[in-house]
Amino acid sequence: MISFLMLLALTLAQPVAPAHWCYQSQSQTTACTGPDNWPGYCQGKQQSPIDINTDKTMLNVSLVPFQFTDYDKRESRIIENNGHSVEVKLENSIKISGGGLQETYKAVAFHLHWSDALDEGSEHTIDGQSGAMELHIVHIKDKYKNVSEALAGNGNDEIAVLGFLIKASHGNNTGFTNLVESLSKVQYQSNNTHLKEFSLFDLIPRIDKLKNYYRYWGSLTTPNCDEKVIWTVFHEPILLHMNQILEFSKKLYYNLESDKKISMADNFRNTQQLGGRQVFTSGVGIPLPHAWPTLLAPLLTYLLAVFLY
Ligand SMILES: [Zn+2]
Repeated sequence: MISFLMLLALTLAQPVAPAHWCYQSQSQTTACTGPDNWPGYCQGKQQSPIDINTDKTMLNVSLVPFQFTDYDKRESRIIENNGHSVEVKLENSIKISGGGLQETYKAVAFHLHWSDALDEGSEHTIDGQSGAMELHIVHIKDKYKNVSEALAGNGNDEIAVLGFLIKASHGNNTGFTNLVESLSKVQYQSNNTHLKEFSLFDLIPRIDKLKNYYRYWGSLTTPNCDEKVIWTVFHEPILLHMNQILEFSKKLYYNLESDKKISMADNFRNTQQLGGRQVFTSGVGIPLPHAWPTLLAPLLTYLLAVFLY
């Protein structure tokens, strides 16, 4: 009897490990903590992602083009299935500055979010419209050694994430061939493999199309959802062939190889309340107002008339 009581006491004394966080799509079949109960700052008021209502964005002329350092550096990097997404760690020589940022940031990693359908999958939405996927390139202030150190900082801009919506098209995006072909080698959690050499510029739109972007202050979109992220969401989407997009949900699983298979799809967080926040838009490269051509035509006619007479 005594030993039974001791056993009971010991059992009760064991701390109950909190269930690991997961997306809604995984929580339906696995004991894990879904988005409604995510820990940390996830129930805060400055959360990400958001829907960007373009009618309510404010033009900000300080949102100048970015300078990209080593985004053209071709390197063989490792891709890993981390149980929530596929992630590629990046070398710290890859940096961004300009772009309305107060200082230089260095890259740490990129990952993606997707669905098994083409009309959803992105985290941010623009005027209520989702992309089929979203690419996040995560950077921290240059002075920090790693993400944990950046998260220990007090600012609301310790981390800068560049977000690109990905849309389905009929053309094959050859910049993604390498990455998509690697997915069959990282099907299960903790699998990793070397990618063939590539640069970040292989993945994103041409630099002259990156002048226009939205800017707001928000959070990480995974626990602990720290509200320390300065967000950039580019106007220009990345285009992938629909078959390239669907490969992610077909090939990848959330679980370890030894566990029950659960497709990795819908690994995106729903949009959060904007609250009192303002979303800004850059002003560079905005097309001339429609009025210009209509003013220009009579002027040219007049000049031509003067010249001819
Ligand atoms: Zn992300």
